[in-house]
Amino acid sequence: MDLEKTKGQQLLDELGYKTKSAWENVKDREKIFNFCNDYKAFLDNSKTEREYVKEAVKIAEKLGYIDLDKVVEENLPVKAGDRLFRVIRNKAVVFAVIGKKPLDKGTRMLGAHIDSPRLDLKQNPLYENTDMVFMKTHYYGGIKKYQWLAIPLSLHGVIIKKNGEVVNIRIGENDNDPVFTITDLLPHLASDQMDKKMKDAVTGESLNSLVGSIPYDDKDVKEKVKLNILKFLNEKYGIIEEDLISSELELVPAFKARDVGLDRSMVGAYGQDDRVCAYTSMMALFDLKNPEYTSICVLTDKEEIGSVGNTGAKSRFLEDFIADLCFLTSSNYSDILVRRCLNNSVMLSADVNSAVDPNFEGTHDKLNAAYLGKGVAVLKYGGSRGKSGASDAHAELVARVRKVFNSNNIPWQTTELGAVDKGGGGTIAMMVSNLGIDVIDCGVPVLSMHSPFETTSKIDIYAAYKGFKAFLTDF
Ligand code: MN
Ligand code: MN
Repeated sequence: MDLEKTKGQQLLDELGYKTKSAWENVKDREKIFNFCNDYKAFLDNSKTEREYVKEAVKIAEKLGYIDLDKVVEENLPVKAGDRLFRVIRNKAVVFAVIGKKPLDKGTRMLGAHIDSPRLDLKQNPLYENTDMVFMKTHYYGGIKKYQWLAIPLSLHGVIIKKNGEVVNIRIGENDNDPVFTITDLLPHLASDQMDKKMKDAVTGESLNSLVGSIPYDDKDVKEKVKLNILKFLNEKYGIIEEDLISSELELVPAFKARDVGLDRSMVGAYGQDDRVCAYTSMMALFDLKNPEYTSICVLTDKEEIGSVGNTGAKSRFLEDFIADLCFLTSSNYSDILVRRCLNNSVMLSADVNSAVDPNFEGTHDKLNAAYLGKGVAVLKYGGSRGKSGASDAHAELVARVRKVFNSNNIPWQTTELGAVDKGGGGTIAMMVSNLGIDVIDCGVPVLSMHSPFETTSKIDIYAAYKGFKAFLTDF
């Protein structure tokens, strides 16, 4: 039965802004699910920024991407279609495909971050108490501390020995590996804890992870269990306790990325903020063959603690990368070339945003919020309390992004970072815009953001990937 629409209904279709589930009339469900299977496998191998860089470069090199530092060193020619990358201190990475247009016409960029909230080990972490050995941690990024208790944790990172030798650590990811855990109080004895405010119920200094409980057999040694752990570390990795001072070790959830829901429509995993946008951006760029504009995917570190340091978006590594590209592709390099390039460049700052969670009413203005399953979300501005600290994209830029998404049938929605006066935040957009680049935030909505197990919708993941690709080719 095909009921004809009334005049009013037709007019509403024409004039009103409507959003709907992106799953409606979806034709390539299998493609979406396959893309997300690859994404989940990538997540399992890339739980830290260092691991992400390694895995990403592995894929890139297979696709013919060449290390820009090698190009510079060997003075190799660079031409349109060439694929280049640069790794920054093993924690950030930039990929580029050289376009047909000269660099001073600008670039098309996708920017995301590859660090996630976690528990870093302190530099002197080991201590013994009641015949158990613990590792002290210092949490990284915004976490709800209670969520990190009583779950299996894996340990990732590097230890740099006195002689400079690098020991790579990855314990707890194989099914037969041991894991670590931070214990929680049993409910029976937790009445004092339960009376506390949630933010005070677990303190930072109590986030100590269990690491052993067998004593070294010598009655004359004081901390026998700790000595036994030191002996294990020395036998297995050739390290002494002081080596831990020059280490970067991160405790992250030990579980793997999984499908969520009977219909398998969602992905649950640690670290989807912001690896879901990093992965989709990177894959969009990797699909690119001969773009008009030089196209760049920049994946930064330290976003979760303010984009600081020389691997974060506040540093100049992106600018330096672009300066190198300008130098390599022009016969008379000058500073003005770099400035023109930056001022004519456009970036989608690809970061996740918070989806409406019906279990928690009142956090969003529902007219201006992202929903799981309605496509990639465009965030004109972030900030908090009167847009303070926001990168507010120009309406002209929003219009052009909207046009690209609509003409490529990309499901998308508009969003804001929560209701006014509820909180807020920002990402790398503000640092990038300081360079003169036109930038707008755009990414995948997430539930349980910053928790050990974040949830996204597969259709949004795929929409982000397709949308980013459309931006690179059509903007
Ligand atoms: Mn983020
Ligand atoms: Mn975040």
